[in-house]
Order: sequence, then structure tokens, then C-alpha cells
Amino acid sequence: MCYDISNILGIEVKNLRITKDLGLCFHKQIQCKFYEDNLSYHVEHCDFCGKQNVNQTVIKHDSLKTNVYMGLVLERPAYLELKKQRFYCKACQKTYTSKTPYIRSCWRISTDVKLVIIQKLAKVRFEKDIASDHFVSPSTIYRHLKYLGTEIKTNHKLPQYLSFDEFKSTNDVTSAMSFIYCGVVNHDVIEISPDPRRFKLEEHFLKFSSEER
Ligand SMILES: [Zn+2]
Repeated sequence: MCYDISNILGIEVKNLRITKDLGLCFHKQIQCKFYEDNLSYHVEHCDFCGKQNVNQTVIKHDSLKTNVYMGLVLERPAYLELKKQRFYCKACQKTYTSKTPYIRSCWRISTDVKLVIIQKLAKVRFEKDIASDHFVSPSTIYRHLKYLGTEIKTNHKLPQYLSFDEFKSTNDVTSAMSFIYCGVVNHDVIEISPDPRRFKLEEHFLKFSSEER
């Protein structure tokens, strides 16, 4: 019988049931923990054409295996061998893969690990130190920082309460430090500014209406 051990690992995500502890294996010359999960669920409608799944319009197809870095479990790097269910829609004849907020498509690092990295980036620390703490490469941290910089620029709403800090950023910014700020309630990063000088910050916040400020 398979037991769901997600809770024991501190993971509570819909449709994600980690049922197998695969033990220790060497990965990149480090002893790592490995777990297994099948990400499968009933679909109500097709993700592409929106057709309702009645009379097996959308059927379960093959599965796609991917390794997801989970962060540290018992002080060891841990990986999840995730078997993502693929679905086939008879109406539009397209296939697509099951989704979970635990891992975004095209990423190999869990959302939880990325959130921890964001929290560490909000403090004054070097990328290589954060990378070392989490057993990921400095280039992963760099890519994630660049990604954050592009994604969060679309958010132009100021929450009522802000939390802000400076941190040692990437080598290609003009200033030695960057400025980061987030909402106090949900901790969502709102923006990273590569230049924390006062006149630059004033310039930035003046973009918002006086009501928002
Ligand atoms: Zn379809």
C-alpha cells in the first residue's frame, strides 16, 4: 500500500501526493534524497479548446518524467521524480501535461525553493553564497533573479504596506547594490531596482499616482 508522505515533508499542494521514498542516491557527486510522485487527476475540460470532458472526450495519455529539486530534506539535497500525466483531447486532438503550482513548466526547481531564494535575495548576500546554501549553481540564482526582474515589472499596484531592502545584485547592474521591495501581507516581490540611489527611487515611486503613494 502507498502512503502519502507529502505532509511529513511539509508539502501541501493540491493533487501532489508523494508516495515513494526512493532512498539515497549520488547525484552530481553528492548524496541526495529521492522521492517519487505521480501527478494525475480528473480533468473537467480541455486546457486548449475548453471542451467539457464528458464521455471521455479528454483521456489520460502517456506520462512525462521530470526531476524537480525540492531543496533540503534532513540536511540533504532532495529531488522529486515527478511523473506528469499527459492528457489527450479527442475534440481538438491536442495533448497537454498535468500542472501543479509546486513546479512551473520549464523549471526544474520547486516553487518553494524559489521562494526561499527570493527571501535570501532580499537580504544583503552574494549570489554564490545563496547558491551554496541551496545546492544550486550561481547561474541558477542569476537566471532566477533576471526572471524576477522581467516578471514583476508587470505589477504596478502598490500595496498599503511595503517592506524593502538592499542586496548585492548581478554584475551587470550599474550600482553595487540593488533595491528590492515587497508587500508586507503576502510577501510578493513588487519590483527590483538596479539602482538604489535616492533620486532614482524617488523617480521610481513618482510613477505611481499620489493616491497610491
Ligand atoms: Zn481540446
